Amino acid sequence: MADISRIRCDIDFGRDGIQVSYLAVPSSTNESAYGTVTVPIAVLKHGTGPTALFTGGVHGDEYEGPVALMNLIRELDPGRLQGRLIIIPSLNLPAALTGERCSPVDGLNMNRVFPGERDGTITPMIAHFVCEALLPMADIQVDMHSGGKTLEYLPSINMRVPQDAQRAQKTFGALRAFGAPLGLIDRNLDDTGILNTVSERRGILNLDTELGGAGRVDRDTVRVAKTGIENLLKFFQMLDGDAVTPQQEGRAATRLAEVSDLACYVMAPDAGLYEPFIELGEAVQEGDALGQVHYVDDLNRAPWTVSATRVGFLACKRPPGRVQRGDNIAIIAQPLDPQRYGLT
Ligand SMILES: [Zn+2]
Repeated sequence: MADISRIRCDIDFGRDGIQVSYLAVPSSTNESAYGTVTVPIAVLKHGTGPTALFTGGVHGDEYEGPVALMNLIRELDPGRLQGRLIIIPSLNLPAALTGERCSPVDGLNMNRVFPGERDGTITPMIAHFVCEALLPMADIQVDMHSGGKTLEYLPSINMRVPQDAQRAQKTFGALRAFGAPLGLIDRNLDDTGILNTVSERRGILNLDTELGGAGRVDRDTVRVAKTGIENLLKFFQMLDGDAVTPQQEGRAATRLAEVSDLACYVMAPDAGLYEPFIELGEAVQEGDALGQVHYVDDLNRAPWTVSATRVGFLACKRPPGRVQRGDNIAIIAQPLDPQRYGLT
């Protein structure tokens, strides 16, 4: 592996059972000349079947996915598996240790640097290892995000629609099997450097999540993540048994939706104190007032009303009250007609 990456890893990916180790990422600092950042990794393998790569903590302030993945590593008996699971709960470990979106080491947002660089700083070096050492083994790639400190989503499982019709249908089946409150055909504001974009280009079936956020860890959302991961493994026949439906857990059925275009992203028109009128899940008409921006230093100045740019419902909001001009304050999603994408 040394010629592929500068990162060392002593895992034998062909071995049955469970192995827990580290990605040893070289990091020479003032405090440690030959230092290493150690990113935890677990591999569980048994029998024959697909390889699924699960990552969390690409952004260090997103917690539900990493919690569910750490629990899975401890609780899943690898003898029940048919296939191989590669799990990295906190891929951007320096950011996860400080609870920040971007790496405190090089300041980079990991989900803008894929496929990474072998000889880059720590964030692109880790991204490069994932793309060049792990993705070639993977049949299924799932990256578990949440909204982080500055966004909160209805807990969702997300896909983009692949060109390949067969893979599109399989991905949609997996999205439905996951059983999140929201199943979303998503549209990234910026596709550049995203892990799932790299997988998509390589023809690897991929999904990601947006499990809540607001810098919290929510009990019910961790449960959504746990059940969802197990449901995916059952869907891909890596675990026996039927998927557990949301209704069996006392929740509503998955709401299927899409972000139909980039106008669904609503940005703050000015800096100030944002007062929301609409909460997550509530319906809006185009032009409805979503909220208003107050000017705390000027009582003579009227608040700036922010209008909905699309019809639909609020799938994501910004929890912090203070906003800067250009901050994303809401994402409006529309009910999905799967047939529009040739999906059933
Ligand atoms: Zn994220």
